[in-house]
Amino acid sequence: MVRKLIRGGYVVSMDARVGAGEFDVLIEEDRIAAVAHDLAADDAEVIDARGCIVLPGLVNAHMHTWQTALRGIASNWTLPQYFRSVHAGLATLFTPDDLYIGTLAGALNQLDCGTTTLGDWCHNNPTPEHTDRAVDGLVESGLRAVFLHGSPKPDPKPGQRHFSEIEHPRAEIERLLKSRFTSREALTTLGMAILGPHYSTYEVAVHDFLLAREHGLIASMHCAGLDAKTPDGWERLAAAGLLGPNTNVVHGNNLSNHQLRLMLDRGVTFSLAPETEMLQGHGHPITGRLRDAGHAPSLGVDLESAIAGDMFTVARVALASQRALDNAAARAENGQLPFTSTLTCEDALGWITVRGAEALGLADRIGSLTPGKQADVVVLRADTLGMRPLHDPVATVVMQGSAAHVDTVLVGGAYRKRHGRLLYPHLARRLDALEASGRRIAAGLNERLATH
Ligand SMILES: [Zn+2]
Repeated sequence: MVRKLIRGGYVVSMDARVGAGEFDVLIEEDRIAAVAHDLAADDAEVIDARGCIVLPGLVNAHMHTWQTALRGIASNWTLPQYFRSVHAGLATLFTPDDLYIGTLAGALNQLDCGTTTLGDWCHNNPTPEHTDRAVDGLVESGLRAVFLHGSPKPDPKPGQRHFSEIEHPRAEIERLLKSRFTSREALTTLGMAILGPHYSTYEVAVHDFLLAREHGLIASMHCAGLDAKTPDGWERLAAAGLLGPNTNVVHGNNLSNHQLRLMLDRGVTFSLAPETEMLQGHGHPITGRLRDAGHAPSLGVDLESAIAGDMFTVARVALASQRALDNAAARAENGQLPFTSTLTCEDALGWITVRGAEALGLADRIGSLTPGKQADVVVLRADTLGMRPLHDPVATVVMQGSAAHVDTVLVGGAYRKRHGRLLYPHLARRLDALEASGRRIAAGLNERLATH
């Protein structure tokens, strides 16, 4: 049996029963075997974690990884500009190999940044070949991922139906389950990235919810931004008994308190992307509204075409944006600031670990350093210029964490990054391919804009 012992680090387990402290972590094959003081395991390979913080691998619950080659292109775009230029423009120029290289590079960057599980919300699948190449990239990266299969959103050509009227393709979900996602225990599993009532007709939403339920898949959908296609869709779906823990809603800024309550009461999970929501115009993140209802969000990068890919930044922005709202609300109410912070760094670390695991339906396998769970572990170097002294390890992780501090990343007990270096062997060549892909797609859009 392959055994690894992470020794001498400060462990933040994110499991209340295990707690936090100077523990060792014993890994047997792909699982966490024990988290305790002074573990003895003579035959184990020792990972020296003195001066380090040991934490569960981070979970990025929502990202359109296929857009990695578009980095920076959408950073100044509003949501309407993004829809027009990305979905009706750039997306249509992607070949299957563009899907592969963008997904691979984006997934590798997640590992480099300490993310071990990704909700890859892939909605640029015009052909099965595109889908297969995206899955190839994801699998090759070694990241744990739920591949959320979605449909593209081009402008309809004459005679074509608008995307909001098109049901999720059953044949493609069934093909993927038979060919690419045959085991629920595998590192990469399938989910559905559906339109949902915000972006489709009610009939399409019902079809897609039922298809996901039939196959026991997570149904994830955006809800925010432009006007809803089916404004009363959530109430109708709740009444039809179609909302549940496998329903994942992204953003949710526009939901009423009544709708939020309906959804939370049925176990619906929420994945927020505070930075893109504030930058592009979705509205204020609903982190605090979820808290007030006794819940908490998971978080995602959403768009590397607009922002950076690391989950430390995402957690920081989520925390800061909600504290700003709470502080402003308190001042408006009684002219004073709250005496204590309304949300903590511990809350924020939960959003990018255990809550992410819940949103992706993986809470029994990942999200915390709990014996029996998969050994998805991150070791952060904390004896550095940017992190010493370590007064509060959780605060240091959330507020000072970055890819530069990520020393070691394990997924299912296997190394993906070691001594600060990603172990993927062909990185330089793949980055050249990513560059070529991004340049070609951007040039294609400029050409098209020039001729219209
Ligand atoms: Zn999104």
